[in-house]
Order: sequence, then structure tokens, then C-alpha cells
Amino acid sequence: MIPALKISHLRKVYRRGNVAVDDLSLTVNEGDFFGFLGPNGAGKSTTIHCMTGIAEPTGGTIEIFGVDAVKNYREARRLVGLCPQEFNVDPFATPRQIVDWMGGYFGMSAAQRKARIDHLMERFELGPHEKKPFRELSGGLKRRVVLARALVNDPKLLILDEPTAGVDVELRRILWRYLQEINADGRTILLTSHYLEEVERLCRDIAIVNKGRIVRQGTKDEIAGGTPGGLEEAYLAVTGSAAEHVAGQ
Ligand code: ADP
Repeated sequence: MIPALKISHLRKVYRRGNVAVDDLSLTVNEGDFFGFLGPNGAGKSTTIHCMTGIAEPTGGTIEIFGVDAVKNYREARRLVGLCPQEFNVDPFATPRQIVDWMGGYFGMSAAQRKARIDHLMERFELGPHEKKPFRELSGGLKRRVVLARALVNDPKLLILDEPTAGVDVELRRILWRYLQEINADGRTILLTSHYLEEVERLCRDIAIVNKGRIVRQGTKDEIAGGTPGGLEEAYLAVTGSAAEHVAGQ
């Protein structure tokens, strides 16, 4: 089976020689709910940016369902839904407009967009809010809007960068339910998150990246099951954060 995502020996060096990603290889199988973890500055966003045409890799290859994400960027991008960490939307636009513009970007007709947006507004219970300016919505509703926007093109691979950042516990649980449903529908999900509880609850497979390299990879059970402290202990052990934390006291 063709993997949903195959990254081979990815390297990204920014100007002034800053090596953000250094020989990173990763395979995500279709249907997986994959956790991509690592401390700030580890290279997660850069990897996602290289997958989605925002940054140009210095070396290595990225295939999304077998399509070269660098050479055939447009074709690959159609297969991906991207839910970025920051709210990169016009704060005065309404949820319907925000999702509609992304549909336009993918070349969907007005009728296609309307049908899809009607469905997404209902699915994420955004109907009562769809005509309000984005800036007036609560944090949880804003997250749902960018999730709906990421799904407008019916992507096979959904990339979620910190999807519940700044969302309170109760609303986070609602978002988790949506994400589990999206995965159960057959979509592959790549998730980055700092909430290890979130990763433990949602993900099947995990890769931990540190200083631009994968330092641990396996099923959640392999990684979290081996230590009494579970995923958190395994994570701290391979990222060296535990030692830094102690040293900083
Ligand atoms: P993460 O998403 O894991 O926090 P990033 O991919 O954002 O990590 O960052 C990895 C490294 O690349 C960091 O050292 C960061 O400062 C650097 N970096 C990220 N974006 C740029 C950029 N546009 N120009 C220069 N350096 C960058």
C-alpha cells in the first residue's frame, strides 16, 4: 500500500546556516492517527512547511500518497488539509467566508463550495455562528472554523499543528471527538501537540523529533508502555528536557 506520507532524508537549512531539519525520515500509513512530537524549535513546523509548499527543502524527498510534494506541489497540496497553529484568517470575515475562500483556492465551483460548507457547518455545529465575525468567536469555535476550512477540499491527509492550543478542557474534549470521527471516516491525521495526554488519547503511532532529527519512533504502546511514567517519561528521556528542567531549578 502507498503510504499517506513518506519523508526520506529531509534536510532544511535556513539562511545563515540554521539547520532546522537534519536527515529526517518518516513514514505514516494510510488511516493512521500519527503524533509528531518534540520540544519548541525541534523542527516540526519546518517539516510541515516543507510538506505543504510553505518552505523549500534543502535536501531529501517528501511524498504524499505517492505524489512528490516538492516537484508536484499543487497535486500533492490537493490531498492535504492544513490546520495551522496560528489563526491566519481575516478577523472580520465570517466562518462561512473563511471556508469559502479556501474552497475557491482549490478551484471548487460555487455550488460545490456551498454544499460542502453547509455540510461542514452542520458537522462542527457552527450554524448559529456562521455569520459572525471570526474575532467575536470563542477560542473553541475558532478552532472549529480552521478545522472546517482544512476539510473543505475533502483531504486524505489532515495535518493538525497544535489543534487545541488555548482551548479549555471541556472544549478540548469536543475537539477530540471531532478528530476521532474524522479519523474513523478513513482520513489519515498527523498531529503535533504539546499536550501529551492528548497524544496518548488520540494517536496510534508516534515520532519524537529533537534538534531536527527523529529520536524515537514506534507505536504509542511501544513508546509509552516501556516506562512507569508512560509517554511523558519516554518523551523527557529522549528530548533531554528532563535534564534541562533539573538543571534550571
Ligand atoms: P518547532 O515547530 O518544532 O517548534 P521549527 O520548525 O519552528 O520548530 O524551528 C526549527 C528551527 O528552525 C528553530 O531553530 C527555528 O528558530 C528555526 N526557524 C524556523 N523558521 C525559520 C525561518 N523562517 N528562518 C530561520 N530560522 C527558522
